[in-house]
Amino acid sequence: MEVVRISPRGYCHGVVEAIRAARRVGAEPGGEPVAMLGYLVHNEHVTRELAASGVRLVDAPTRLEGLAAIDRGTVIFTAHGVSPQVRAQAAARGLRTVDATCSDVVRTHDLVDRLLADGYTVIYLGKVGHPEPEGVVGHDPGRVLLVETLADVERLVVDADKLAVTTQTTLSVWDTNALIARLRERFPRLEVHNEICSATQDRQEAAVAAARECDVVVVVGSSRSSNSLRLVQVVEELAGTPAHLVDTVDELRPEWFAGCRRVGVTAGASTPSPLTRAVIQALEGLEPPPAAAGRPVALRAGRGPSAPGTG
Ligand code: SF4
Repeated sequence: MEVVRISPRGYCHGVVEAIRAARRVGAEPGGEPVAMLGYLVHNEHVTRELAASGVRLVDAPTRLEGLAAIDRGTVIFTAHGVSPQVRAQAAARGLRTVDATCSDVVRTHDLVDRLLADGYTVIYLGKVGHPEPEGVVGHDPGRVLLVETLADVERLVVDADKLAVTTQTTLSVWDTNALIARLRERFPRLEVHNEICSATQDRQEAAVAAARECDVVVVVGSSRSSNSLRLVQVVEELAGTPAHLVDTVDELRPEWFAGCRRVGVTAGASTPSPLTRAVIQALEGLEPPPAAAGRPVALRAGRGPSAPGTG
């Protein structure tokens, strides 16, 4: 089967830098425990590799709850960023901190800080329960209002002279535009700051463009990865092409490819490239049956992942 390697795909600069920082701390001699506060990136393979190098995962419903479970040593803040309360608590308890917050997320925090200082109420478009909104909303939960859906927009009650909207970095560009359009109708004086990062936007646009020329698309990424899930969503909704999320080559299902001639492959920003390469190799070796035949076909798996790499 013909495989279209969609580009750009895979690791973004924020993930590369976060993993590099965590590996550096994990390799330090000394014996003090090292904990990462939540998944450094939403990928199990990266998490296992870091655990093997001495960086333990502390996963809890919120970053503050997770922090309460770390009593000494070093704590790593993930690429998603943390709230000011988490920083203050870590300092108050004498923990050494390593901040792997992505520079794009830092920019959003700085923006929200400035807007709050200027007297704005901030609507923040993001995913409920995701760590990135938790960090941003933590700047002032009374004046940073988390909105996820159009229904949330309709329910909003805001009494503020100065109102701005900004966004989580990994949302769908198209969903965000729809939410902002409705917000503008409801609040005509709204100030808009779209903070979707260029890594997310470039991957989504490339996936949608390529998907229009493909019969099916495979997204390699974890089901916990917000940007990987958004890739599946935009391919299906905007290109009208079926898309499947797989964490590894073992999750490929032959029946997805019956009657297909061309498959596009992309990967979330937190997906190690060896995982994607294994999927590409398996699909290149696949000869799908005609759609009508419907019989199962064998997938020849490529080499499994070695160590996570970049790109
Ligand atoms: S997806 Fe964007 S915001 Fe998130 S780590 Fe990557 S570059 Fe940074």
